[in-house]
Amino acid sequence: MNGFDEALRILLVEDNRQDFISIRRALEKRRIPSRITLFDNSNQALDRLLVDAGAFDIAVITQRLNNGGSGLDLCHRLFEKEHPVPRILLAENEDLGHQLKKMHFINEYLTKDENRKYLGVLPMIISEVVSQYREKRLQDQQKRAVQAIENRFRTVLAHVADGIIIVDTAKKIRLANRAAREILDREKEKLIGETFDPPTIPGQTSEIEFYKKSGKRVIAEMRAVEIEWWGETAYLASLRDITYRKQMSDALKTANKIRNQIISELKKANSKVLEQQKAVIEEERLKVLLQIAGATAHELNQPLTVLLGSIELMGINRDDPEKVLSYVDRIEKAGKRISNIVKQIQTIQYDDASPGGTANPDYQIRFDQEAEILVVEESDADYEKLRDILSPYPNARLNRARNMSRALGKITTGNYDLILSEYLVSDGNAMDLLQYLREGNHSIPLVVITGQGDEMIASQLIQSGAFDYIPKNRVSDAPLIRIILNTLEKARLKKEIRKVHQRMAEMSVMDELTGLYNIRYFKSAINQEMARAKRYGTELVLCMFDLDHFKAVNDTYGHPVGDKILSRIGRMLREWIRRSDVACRYGGEEFVIILPHTDMENGRIMSDRFRKSVALDPFDCGSAKIPVSISMGIAGYPETNAKNVKELIDQADQALYQAKANGRNRVVLYHPDIPKENKENKKLSAFDAIDDPEPANPDLTKKNQ
Ligand code: GH3
Ligand code: MG
Ligand code: MG
Repeated sequence: MNGFDEALRILLVEDNRQDFISIRRALEKRRIPSRITLFDNSNQALDRLLVDAGAFDIAVITQRLNNGGSGLDLCHRLFEKEHPVPRILLAENEDLGHQLKKMHFINEYLTKDENRKYLGVLPMIISEVVSQYREKRLQDQQKRAVQAIENRFRTVLAHVADGIIIVDTAKKIRLANRAAREILDREKEKLIGETFDPPTIPGQTSEIEFYKKSGKRVIAEMRAVEIEWWGETAYLASLRDITYRKQMSDALKTANKIRNQIISELKKANSKVLEQQKAVIEEERLKVLLQIAGATAHELNQPLTVLLGSIELMGINRDDPEKVLSYVDRIEKAGKRISNIVKQIQTIQYDDASPGGTANPDYQIRFDQEAEILVVEESDADYEKLRDILSPYPNARLNRARNMSRALGKITTGNYDLILSEYLVSDGNAMDLLQYLREGNHSIPLVVITGQGDEMIASQLIQSGAFDYIPKNRVSDAPLIRIILNTLEKARLKKEIRKVHQRMAEMSVMDELTGLYNIRYFKSAINQEMARAKRYGTELVLCMFDLDHFKAVNDTYGHPVGDKILSRIGRMLREWIRRSDVACRYGGEEFVIILPHTDMENGRIMSDRFRKSVALDPFDCGSAKIPVSISMGIAGYPETNAKNVKELIDQADQALYQAKANGRNRVVLYHPDIPKENKENKKLSAFDAIDDPEPANPDLTKKNQ
């Protein structure tokens, strides 16, 4: 019946000496170790209890006191003051005790009777009340501890920029932080208890999509882990709004698709043009062959004359067998020559030799777009001919330049869709024209009218950028119109491709060389991250770095090697950063990294680790190992007191320049005492790396000086 390790500290309020002795005896009899402090006055007892609340395990209070105060009053006062000591009242009567217990003035009561029967149960009641009280207090403590942990957890959650929700196995949301409510666009009351449908698979990252009340589509990246939540299995899922990133990449995909479509159209158009060029070339070849054949017919004349003459002479001298024999011999020889020449002629292919013939005779001529055509033509007759051919097509508007210098003048002032130029005019040729177009960045397509049999020139022209050529003798309706239309179409497609490329470049958020984000993305990301940090009271580090003596690397090893180094820095950086960090190429050989949820000290540790890994790993360009180092500047929000993004960037920039000034290959944290960046600073810095214990690019530094 004891079970207490130490003596119970009992405060007894009793003015009857005999009762006190009996109570002590009763406790001893029951072997309950105890130390009784006796008060015969309730006011003194109260004073004592108030001075040292933890000094007693229990108070046993007699209701009726003759020496001063009343036990009832004491119980009431202790209740009012929420005094922690449990109390047992030795009451006058049963009803009163019962009432007081109900009102929690006391924990237990016993009725004090004449024969002191209550002493039989008092020890047991005392030990029970103490045990119960202790147990309850332990439970309260545990509850408070759990509550404190949860409160702490909720405070952390409220300040995390990512959305966090806890979902139970029945898919009901049990907890959602502010960021989650913002992402899911719901008030707290509505969110708790709501069903969360997307599967929360522990360890997996998935993308979920939903619509805000405004109708805005939101895409979030979700990662879940299994946790225990108030004794049950549940899932903690983090949500990150990636709508912007997603939109960007979707836009990029669409642009890519359009570009591919145009490229395939262009390819088709190109092959059509090629086919026709082939047809033209084939025709030229046939013409050449026919010329050869013409020469052969001439050649044939000679043996034929010999043959016919010999036959005639044989007739005249048929009585002279010797002469006849020599004529037969000449006839045979001439016959052989004729047969050889005929064989040669027979090898010539005539299958597609009709003038104006093309590989695709069904090709429809439609001139449905307007075109300003500049014709460079010296001869009036030839120009007239062109005009006649094009007269049925009012959409083709002709402008004439009689020579190259006039043509160049017109090109600079006018707006032409196509140039049709004679290969050679008095003051220059089509090659000069091509060069002029190239250098002036004019994208007007050029078709050259070449002389007969100038296939070599034609091929050179095409290689130099002419869209097409047409031999002068083939300048007739169908081929010319076809070439003009093809060229216009090809030029149109090229222009479109240029436009799409430009649009893609404008939309792109990636830097091609390094595979990092570009400055456009950086600007929006830093604004977003800064806003988040401000809203949630989180920290943020901006790290800016620049390659050391990179100009010297370029000068020594060439720009392409420089590019490879930049590309490798990009790769290293991508491997190094955390999922939530954003690494961007700021321009040239400057980079920035946004480190959310990071303070300056951690930012410095992390940045320095990256700086070291760059410095320790020279770039192997095959013929040499090129030391590469970087200087880094760090600013932190809110640590460096930047009021806005611009100030934060300026601070990181100033710290970076200080890192350069201090000897490069180092990390410098922004501090208000850092002198503002100026050019002198930078120039000077190229020379003061000498006493650096860990000099940057030592080889290059030397070369630089
Ligand atoms: P430091 O930064 O240490 O003061 O010296 P630095 O030689 O690197 O000086 P600065 O930053 O002014 O020079 C930048 C050089 O980086 C100039 C340019 O030759 C080179 N550069 C910039 N962008 C590129 C690029 O895209 N490719 C290559 N290969 N070089 C680049
Ligand atoms: Mg540099
Ligand atoms: Mg630079």
